[in-house]
Amino acid sequence: MERPRWLVDEMLARLARYLRFVGLDVVQVRGLSDREILEQAEREDRRILTRDRQLAARSPRALLVRSPWLDEQWRELRAAWPGLPHVVSFERCSACNGPLAPYLPGTDPGREAGLPKGLVERGLAVFSCTICGHLYWEGSHTARIRGQLSRWEAETGSR
Ligand SMILES: [Zn+2]
Repeated sequence: MERPRWLVDEMLARLARYLRFVGLDVVQVRGLSDREILEQAEREDRRILTRDRQLAARSPRALLVRSPWLDEQWRELRAAWPGLPHVVSFERCSACNGPLAPYLPGTDPGREAGLPKGLVERGLAVFSCTICGHLYWEGSHTARIRGQLSRWEAETGSR
């Protein structure tokens, strides 16, 4: 399945986080001119998600997102790209887009605040961002995100 890499503008920060939760490579740019955005997308072979009508009109790589609301933004992207994944996969850091790697609990206790030790002892998988060091595991936060993703998917399926 084709899985494009994305570049999103600063107005789509929340959407960018959700796209990373489903494993997509998504860079978010800030303070760049349209021209710089287009050049970076070209250089890194990324498709562009933007709420800027003029920018969207300048490149076949760009997809205009019309809604300011996350729910509607997801639906717009899903309509334009039916291959949009909708399950949480621990591949990308939602904060910085760094690739995640398996993490062995106990390696760096200073980073493990909040890690559920009991579940870790029973084999809970933990992942670490290879760029910023943030830790990820299956917990209440991911459950909430999974719920959101499956609601969106159910809505799509029922249309
Ligand atoms: Zn990170």
